[in-house]
Amino acid sequence: MSQLSGASLVSLVGAGPGDPELLTLKGYARIQGADVVVYDRLVSTAILDLAPPGTSRIFAGKAANHHRMPQDEINDTLVRLARGGRRVVRLKGGDPFIFGRGSEEAQHLARNGIPFEIVPGITAASGCAAYAGIPLTHRGISESIIFVTGQLRDGSLAHVDWESVRRGATTLVIYMGLANIERICRELIDSGLPPATPAAVIENGTLPDQRTVHATIASLPDRVGAESLRAPSLFVIGGVVDLAPALQWFAPAAITESGRL
Ligand code: SAH
Repeated sequence: MSQLSGASLVSLVGAGPGDPELLTLKGYARIQGADVVVYDRLVSTAILDLAPPGTSRIFAGKAANHHRMPQDEINDTLVRLARGGRRVVRLKGGDPFIFGRGSEEAQHLARNGIPFEIVPGITAASGCAAYAGIPLTHRGISESIIFVTGQLRDGSLAHVDWESVRRGATTLVIYMGLANIERICRELIDSGLPPATPAAVIENGTLPDQRTVHATIASLPDRVGAESLRAPSLFVIGGVVDLAPALQWFAPAAITESGRL
């Protein structure tokens, strides 16, 4: 490890879901002290702009040509920059350890003897739900939460504890589900969830252009299609969604089957 002494600390920082005010003070301090910021697509410009003038910015997300910097290349870039003595901030949307591959990057840094720290962020589930007026838990309605990826690498949501979801005591939050929305809603119904189970999709949560579609798991695919929701969008499924009309506090649009909330 001796040849590695001198490598700078890499800070893996969660930028939160979008609203720049949801960045932590620690994340803010790390950005202010950065020589170089390596950032993902979901990091808002307002947060990037907190970096001092002269800070290098490296984009590691999916560009307009859909080319994504491969994970190996991101990993190697972090190591190279840190060995060059630059203070690196690896800025990720939400929380780095929730569907953010932050742990893979941390493993790579650890394997290469690079010092690192994790600065957690507000994950999309808590940010989007709060700004949509949906409590993720509520006494008497939901006592647990499942965060699941809708990317369905293995073809289904088979690992979800459906028994608990069926009892209605669990809120299901699905990240990255938009592309598979029909299959997901079909699987929810096939797994025994009543078709009338309340569901919401929140697009651009916490940002001024946030939109929320309220529906049921049966009608959600059509409703989301009709409103042309795009990524980033997050699904929240369960009885807590019905609390939203009374808990609206953030102005952007909420659209129900019958019109606006
Ligand atoms: N590490 C991130 C998640 C990255 S996966 C976190 O903790 O939030 C990317 C997915 O997160 C998106 O496909 C979407 O489902 C969700 N997401 C992130 N930001 C969002 C936002 N502002 N509004 C809605 N969904 C968001």
